Amino acid sequence: MKHTPYLLYSDGQGNIFEDETLYVLGRTGWDAVETELDDWIPLPDGGNLYELPGRRGIGLDVKTGEMRLCEKGWAVAAFIPPAHTGFYMAAYETLPDAPTLPLFCYTCAGWYEGEFFVTATRIERDIRQECAGYDEDKIESGLTKFVTAYPHNRLVQHLAETCCQTYHCPAARNYFMGRWECPIPISPACNANCIGCISFQPEDETIVSTQDRLTFKPTAAEVVEYTVPHLETAPYPIVSFGQGCEGEPLLMWETIREAILEIRRHTSKGSININTNGSNPRAVEELMKAGLNSIRVSTNSARKEIYTPYYRPNNYEFQDLLESLKIAAAYGGWTSINYFVFPGMTDSEAELDALRHLIEYTDLKMIQWRNFNIDPDWYLGKIGVTETGDRYGVKQLMHIIREEYPHLKFGYFNPPIERMKNYEEDFAH
Ligand code: SF4
Repeated sequence: MKHTPYLLYSDGQGNIFEDETLYVLGRTGWDAVETELDDWIPLPDGGNLYELPGRRGIGLDVKTGEMRLCEKGWAVAAFIPPAHTGFYMAAYETLPDAPTLPLFCYTCAGWYEGEFFVTATRIERDIRQECAGYDEDKIESGLTKFVTAYPHNRLVQHLAETCCQTYHCPAARNYFMGRWECPIPISPACNANCIGCISFQPEDETIVSTQDRLTFKPTAAEVVEYTVPHLETAPYPIVSFGQGCEGEPLLMWETIREAILEIRRHTSKGSININTNGSNPRAVEELMKAGLNSIRVSTNSARKEIYTPYYRPNNYEFQDLLESLKIAAAYGGWTSINYFVFPGMTDSEAELDALRHLIEYTDLKMIQWRNFNIDPDWYLGKIGVTETGDRYGVKQLMHIIREEYPHLKFGYFNPPIERMKNYEEDFAH
C-alpha cells in the first residue's frame, strides 16, 4: 500500500463515494488518529458498509496534511465479519440531534485502488461462520428433517422459526446443516442489565435489541433430545449453552447440570460449552463436576470500574467472573473471555495491567477478540468516560499479550475438543 486509503462518505441514500481530497483517519477512544499502512486489509467477504446519519467523517487533507471534516455527506463505517478484529473505529464528528447508532460495530473503512479496505486482522482460522460456506438447500432440508424429527421440542422449533429463519443466526444455520457448534438457548431471564444488551433494550432507549429474548424455560429432556444426535454425528461437534437470544444461562444451572449428566450418559463425543456472564462461581463448579468442557465469559473490560457501569449487575460482583474462570480452569476446563474490543479503552495502560492480572489469576486459556457492537459515543457517555488517555493500539496490545503469554490462544470462536488438545489442528475441511 503506497498511502492510507481515501475517506468514504454517503449521500444519505445508501450510495457510497470516495473523497480523494482526504485520507481516512481512525478513531480510538474520543480521538481521531492516523493509522499505519499495515493496519489495513481488504474488506473481507461478508462485511458490510454503513452510512452514519448525522455524522461527518474526519480525514487528513491530501495536500495540506491538515485534519478536517468531509462536508460532502455522512460518515461511513464497516461492519466486519466474524473471525476478524478491528484496530480502529470510524472517525467522525457527531452533529447535534444525530440518532444513536444501532448495536453493530463501526470499524474504520476507506477506499484504495478500486477496493474497500478496513483496519482489521483475521484473528481466527476457523471457517464456521464464513458466509460463503452456508448452503441454503442443506439448511432447508435440515429444517424439514429436524422439525419433523422433534415435533414437540420447543427448542428445536425456536431454533428453526426464530433463530434460523428470522434472525439468520450463523450458529443455528450450522446446526441445521448438521455441523460444528450447535446453540442451546436456555434462559429467559438475566441478572445483568448491559447497556448494549442484544436481547433486551428498555422501552425508553431509542435503539432496539437485535434479537428478542427466549420466552420459555426449556427442560433438560428438550436439550438432550436434539444435542446428543448432534454430538454423535456432526464434524468437530460442540453444543453451547448461552446464546444471543436469551438472558443468563447460569440462572438455569440446575437444568443445565441435569442435561449435561444425561448427555454424557449417551455420548462422550464433542464438547459441551457455556457462554455466560460468569456471575455464579458455585454453579460453574457444579457444572464442571457434571462434565462441562469449556466456558466463555463475556466482558467489556478486565477492570471492575469499567465493567460495572456497563453490565450493571444484580447480586453479583466483577470478582465472580474471575472466580468462575479460575474454578473452571482448576477442573481442567477450557476457559475463554469473550473480550469486547473497544479501541482506546481495551488497549489502554490501565486495561493491560488488569488484563495481565485476569490472565494470571484465572490461568486463562484463550482470548476471543470480539468487536464491540455499540455506538462509541453512546457507550463512552453511558459509562462516564470523558478522557481515554494514552494507548498502545489494538494491534500492539495483541503483540504484547502474545509475547508475554505465548501459551494463550487467540481466536473468535469456542474451539472443539480436537483444537483444545492441539490448537493448531487444521480445521479447513
Ligand atoms: S449478560 Fe447478556 S443477556 Fe444479560 S444483560 Fe448482558 S448482554 Fe443481555
